[in-house]
Amino acid sequence: MAFDQPLPAALSPSRLSDFQTCPRRYQHASIERLAQPASYATAKGRFVHYVLEQLYRLEGPERTIEHAREYVEPAVAAILTDEVRSDIGLDEGMLAKLLAETEAILVRYFAMEDPTSVTSEGVELRLGVEVNDTPLSGILDRLDRADDGSLTIVDYKTGALPNRNYDSHTFANAELYAALCEAKLGERPTTLRLMYVAHGQSIERSVSDVVVKARANAAAGAWTKIKRYYGDGDFPATPSVNACRFCSFKDLCRSQGVPVPGR
Ligand code: SF4
Repeated sequence: MAFDQPLPAALSPSRLSDFQTCPRRYQHASIERLAQPASYATAKGRFVHYVLEQLYRLEGPERTIEHAREYVEPAVAAILTDEVRSDIGLDEGMLAKLLAETEAILVRYFAMEDPTSVTSEGVELRLGVEVNDTPLSGILDRLDRADDGSLTIVDYKTGALPNRNYDSHTFANAELYAALCEAKLGERPTTLRLMYVAHGQSIERSVSDVVVKARANAAAGAWTKIKRYYGDGDFPATPSVNACRFCSFKDLCRSQGVPVPGR
């Protein structure tokens, strides 16, 4: 069966992650563009990202917690659209919880770093470039320039901390962003920093040549498969407890006979 929809123009780190988790999920999300209802967690993530993005649009000395708080109300209008409210069943109690959690995150965030002293080369920075004949695109939360001239990719995380023995997947997206930066800007970031703002903790990793090349090669391999599956008109489903647990397409897959585990 050929698809009516075109192949996406580029592959982003998050879409690559979809594909690597389960090619059928990529088909539903990126080719067929089926709706994926927001959850409380995704809405909170977008909410906090919005506030921090607006904060970093200010000049350095202006980036105070008081100014950050001023972006909370605009975030309600920008992020909590009617569709999102309906998806998550937002009522007064849930809104109060979201606002309280956002305030707690802002307090923790300002204890993690002083944004007035950060030199940022880009906020919500859109990058698109071909690497290994693979069109890649993505949006970086922040790209910072340190005093010694080096670049750091900063990614905000509003979810749970990875367990102590975090595996290679933890930094996978950020490492592919490093490949994107190098190809697009001609300069490779030296550090990846994941800021778990709900917990007041960051984890960092240095960027190595080997890893960046490996991530770019993996993306190229995935893109080759995506084009093949697209031509076949079918992306295989690879159900598993971990893959399916948070997937929006469970009911659809079950209706198509895919043995999705769990409820
Ligand atoms: S429910 Fe499971 S098998 Fe179906 S698309 Fe999602 S991850 Fe894949």
